[in-house]
Parts: sequence; C-alpha cells; structure tokens
Amino acid sequence: MVIGGVDLLDLSFDGLLQTVVDWGQPRFRAAQIWHWIYKSLVTDPEQMSNLPKDLRNQLKERAYIGHLRPVATVTADDGLTEKVLFQTANDQQTFESVLMCYADRNTVCVSSQIGCPLACAFCATGRRGLVRNLTTGEIIAQVMYFARKLLEQKLHVTNVVFMGMGEPMLNFDAVWQAILNLNDHRGFALGSRRFTISTAGVVPGIERLARESLSVGLAISLNAPNNALRNQLMPLNRRYPLERLMAAAKLYVEHTGRRVSFEYVLAKDVNDSEAHAEQTAKLLRGMLCHVNLIPLNPIPGCDYEPSPWERVLRFQRILTQGGIQATVRVSRGSEICAGCGQLRGLYTTAGTQKTGDLNSHGESGDLGD
Ligand code: SAH
Repeated sequence: MVIGGVDLLDLSFDGLLQTVVDWGQPRFRAAQIWHWIYKSLVTDPEQMSNLPKDLRNQLKERAYIGHLRPVATVTADDGLTEKVLFQTANDQQTFESVLMCYADRNTVCVSSQIGCPLACAFCATGRRGLVRNLTTGEIIAQVMYFARKLLEQKLHVTNVVFMGMGEPMLNFDAVWQAILNLNDHRGFALGSRRFTISTAGVVPGIERLARESLSVGLAISLNAPNNALRNQLMPLNRRYPLERLMAAAKLYVEHTGRRVSFEYVLAKDVNDSEAHAEQTAKLLRGMLCHVNLIPLNPIPGCDYEPSPWERVLRFQRILTQGGIQATVRVSRGSEICAGCGQLRGLYTTAGTQKTGDLNSHGESGDLGD
C-alpha cells in the first residue's frame, strides 16, 4: 500500500499552520488539528469533531497522520516490556521500538534510522549498513503508537530515549524536529528533560546538542577507554577519537549543566578487565557523569560473549572507588537488547511472527529521568 499526501507528523506547528492556510482554512484550525493529533492522539480526521466537513475531507485526501504498521510484537517481563517491529507503508522497511513500563515511568526507546552506517563490532543493526534515515513523522509515530496503547489504561509516555536502531546524531534534523513537536506545550508537552539522545560519539552532533536552547539528555556509548580498543569496536572512533569525544562531552556539561550518561557494553575478555575499568575511571574523572554498565547481548554471527557477572561487578566497583558513579543495567532481565536489531533480524530471516521469550530491552533506573 502506498500512502500519498503529507504526513502531518512531519510538520512543525508552523508548518501545519502554513498547510492549513494554503488549503484556504483559517489559521486557528491548525491549533485544533495539533490538539487532536498530539493531545487526543487521534489518527482519523473523521474523529476531529470540531472541524468542518470540508477540512476533514481535505485532511483525508491530502494528508495522513503517521503510517507505521506493527508487524510483530514481543513482550517480556510480564508484559512490562514490549518490543514492536514496525513496517513503513511506502517502502516496506522494518525497524523496531520498545516500550518499557516501570512503577514511576513509561519509556519509549525509538529508532532514528533504518539500519546504521557505523558498524560497531557488537551491534546487530550495524551489520546491515544504513538503509535510510527515518523521517520526523516516522520517529514521532513510534511514540504515538505506544502513547495510544498506554492511554487505554490511562497511562502516558513519560520518557523517550533514542537508543533503538540507528545513530540519531546522523539524522539530527529529523530527530530534533521530532523532539520539538513532542515537547510543544500545545500538544504532547513532554518536557525536554524527558528525552535522551544516545550517540556512538558523533562529535559535531554533541556540540550542536550542547548549544541547542532545549536541554535534552545525552548518553554516549563509550564501550572502550582507549583509542586502540575503541577503534576496533567502534570504527567511528577513528574519525572522532576519545580526546575529541571527551572535549565535546565537557562542552555539553558546561552548556547544559547536565551530567552525561556513558554506556559501556561489557564483552568478556574484550573490554572488561581491571585495567579497562581503571582506565575508564581515569578518563572520566572530574566530569559530571554517570556510567551504565551493560552486559553484552550476544548477536548471531558474532563471537563476543557477555562478561561474567563477577567481572561486571568488579568493573562497577573500580569505577565507584575511582569516584565515578556506575550502575549495572539489569532491571529488565539478564539479556539486554539495546536496539541491536534482533527482532528485525528474526523477522527478516524467518518471515514469521515471533512472540515469547526474546531478549528484553534494558534500561537502567537512571536514564531519561
Ligand atoms: N547509535 C546510538 C544509539 C543506538 S545503540 C549509540 O551508539 O548510542 C544503543 C545502545 O545499544 C548503545 O549503547 C550500544 O552500545 C548498545 N548496544 C549495541 N549492541 C549491543 C549488544 N549486542 N549488547 C548490548 N548493548 C548493545
């Protein structure tokens, strides 16, 4: 099925205003439509009861509100974690998003790209390369899908983290517009502090984030404390080595006054030694930050194994003793699939819907607060 017209989720408020005016409608209709989309979470113009019929018809003929089709769902943790594989309408691409429900918050982990060009050694998404960037509308549609589900239980999305598939900093404009739309007080009104962008270390993106007027959370996937190892695990490090990455992280702290989260995926005998922990503590000393330790989630065709539990705890202890706050991400089961594309892989190879005990998605109690 090919969908035509404009995706209203792609538009800023001003963009919607312009569209409405171009259609010969009064300006105030934009606020009404925005309210229906982002406050009432409606996708069918017929339900927009305070709009005149001709405008509802225009909306149906010339526009649509998101076009993602959920094609597979996996739940874990007694239904508190739900991973959905979405398919795009016009090019039938698939990518995934995850909802994680806690006592005090409901976090959506969104994808920013279909595939990823960065080819990190331990990441399933990177194996397939980049297919394309997601649009602003496709990013927002992921959040809205879960927001509608939650609303049935009178619950709300409280946090959005860009830790799904792709590198958000390489699709900055679309990601940023999605954040602006969801933050807009006339509609979804999710506070800027409720968003976290996770990056493999795209320095210009971090610098841009540092200077944006909206103060959004930053997570950096560190994964190695020296350039030699980081070059191996994350080829992007050759372009933006640790010296530049740390300088950008400091700039972010200076400009925003917010601490940075560093993600560190622990792979057995690769980056989990005492020496690595000491180096990490030294690298981060003095910075306003926090480390999330994530035992590696094994992926097919890749020999890396998760670090044994005692090493994870040892790593944490060394960081803490070195004055660096560190938590282990285990709240969602021992296997954590932080956007590493496993659901998509299964679906693409098997072509069937899977449910049950697939790897759950992890989030520490600390992220996105
Ligand atoms: N590109 C961004 C966001 C997507 S990756 C980034 O790099 O931050 C989100 C997180 O998943 C990163 O912290 C990454 O290091 C982690 N991750 C990727 N593959 C993983 C695996 N096999 N096991 C555990 N975590 C993984």
